[in-house]
Amino acid sequence: MTAVQAVPAVEVDGAAEHVLALDIGGTKLAAGVVRRAGEVLSFLVESTLADEGPDRGLERLFGLGRKAVDEAGVAWTRVGSVGIGCGGPLDAERGVLIAPPHLPGWRDVPVAALAEQEFGRPAALENDATAAAAGEHRYGAGAGTLHMVYLTISTGVGGGVVIDGRLYRGAGGNGGELGHVTVDCAGRPCRGCGRRGCLEAYVSGTSIAERAREAGMDGATAADVAAAARAGDPVATDVWDGTTDALACGLTSIVNLFEPELVVLGGGVISGTGEQLLGPVRTRVLAEAMPPAAAGVKIVEAALGDRVGVVGAAAIAVERLASRDLHEHA
Ligand SMILES: [Zn+2]
Repeated sequence: MTAVQAVPAVEVDGAAEHVLALDIGGTKLAAGVVRRAGEVLSFLVESTLADEGPDRGLERLFGLGRKAVDEAGVAWTRVGSVGIGCGGPLDAERGVLIAPPHLPGWRDVPVAALAEQEFGRPAALENDATAAAAGEHRYGAGAGTLHMVYLTISTGVGGGVVIDGRLYRGAGGNGGELGHVTVDCAGRPCRGCGRRGCLEAYVSGTSIAERAREAGMDGATAADVAAAARAGDPVATDVWDGTTDALACGLTSIVNLFEPELVVLGGGVISGTGEQLLGPVRTRVLAEAMPPAAAGVKIVEAALGDRVGVVGAAAIAVERLASRDLHEHA
């Protein structure tokens, strides 16, 4: 553990009630106050301006956090902890961002310790996809399940796994990289990890646009490809079918591996296309997964929408800090 300044005591009753949740994305910062029951009391977003670097970026993030508490209309004494989600790689245990590719120049930033100094409350940092999985499990589409897989498909592909009701984090907190399940071992290069043929190299918004460009659809986004495929364009349909094939293939392996009762799919590509992607993928996975796993699994769209970042960060603070608080104050 790094030396972290002692956190001023927070009233126990109040400590349990609200979380200040912060989400650091490559393009957007978000902050919100979330009740422990999951209700979002405030939600604010502004541009990250990642080029300005970590000092200025964190100053703006923390300012947004203060504004979120004001806007929620709750007293600071009722805010017991701070949850922070960010893309990795990061050291969740020490609360340090290592070198997130979406935040150039943000190297070895002790975000959790800085947040503890700023707000005088315990803070927890988590990989954003893992946090989103925790959010969907605790407060969203996966509430009440014991065995759940979450996959987020946007500019990249991330995920999280809940086993026996608990988030699986791996030995160092970097497990659950479902976007790097291989769907073709001699396939497309994967920017995220440097290998070939990862799920992310086919189904991320970036990869869909890239495959569309290679097929002659210059400048088309994933949403453009989906729309053109719906309208019957044969080139777009080919690109789209390649997307559903790869997702069905990867998800079938994931279902065989974990035998989840529920798969929750979120992220911009999913929210923009819904059943156009989910429908064929669900049919294929249920047909191709091994029979006991296939018979028990439901595949649904995520419930938390664009608030998943802050709700997920809150879920992480509740999971990782609540037990610590109770311990310390018992
Ligand atoms: Zn990869």
